[in-house]
Amino acid sequence: MSNLYFKYGVMGAGKTARAIMQAYDYIKKGMVVSVFKCVVQDDIDENNVFLNSRLNISGNNLKIKAHPFNKNTDLNRILELEGKPNVIIVDEAQFLNRSQVEMLDSIRVKYNIDIYCYGLKTDFKRELFEGTARLIELADEIEEIKSKCHCGKNATSNARVVNGKMVVEGEKISVGGDELYIALCNDCYNNRNIKEYKKI
Ligand SMILES: [Zn+2]
Repeated sequence: MSNLYFKYGVMGAGKTARAIMQAYDYIKKGMVVSVFKCVVQDDIDENNVFLNSRLNISGNNLKIKAHPFNKNTDLNRILELEGKPNVIIVDEAQFLNRSQVEMLDSIRVKYNIDIYCYGLKTDFKRELFEGTARLIELADEIEEIKSKCHCGKNATSNARVVNGKMVVEGEKISVGGDELYIALCNDCYNNRNIKEYKKI
């Protein structure tokens, strides 16, 4: 018996911190954990990729080593080289493509292991990511990691802010540039109310 889990939340909800803590929980029990993370850039040092959390404990940021992936990565091949893990944890799972999600589900069956995917539900236009859509379709269990908007309501949307202004047009995935994302409730998203946001 194994399950495919999808845990989604807005930006800053603590998805990566949870993924890291979950990985360490398995490691503490002597289990082998394969951790994957989407990396958009091409020029990466594959041996130097980590899940990094903004959560800071005693002056140290939580982190754990991860396999980078992009849309061309054969996840099955990495696992064949590495050997069977006891569990797989995927961060930034919204960036998986449809076939990679399907591949993960077949890996789950092949190895009979649980797979935990953490990611965003929607982009800054409030549209599902490709990987997210397939995960919602295929996951055995789906959980929302809840987070608050600055007004106190539950945050459900990710607003893209460029030069201090919220934008709702543009490419789905943006790399670099002077921009940031903040989590808003639907009302604040509709009213473009970002004025009380605090940078973390
Ligand atoms: Zn709000």
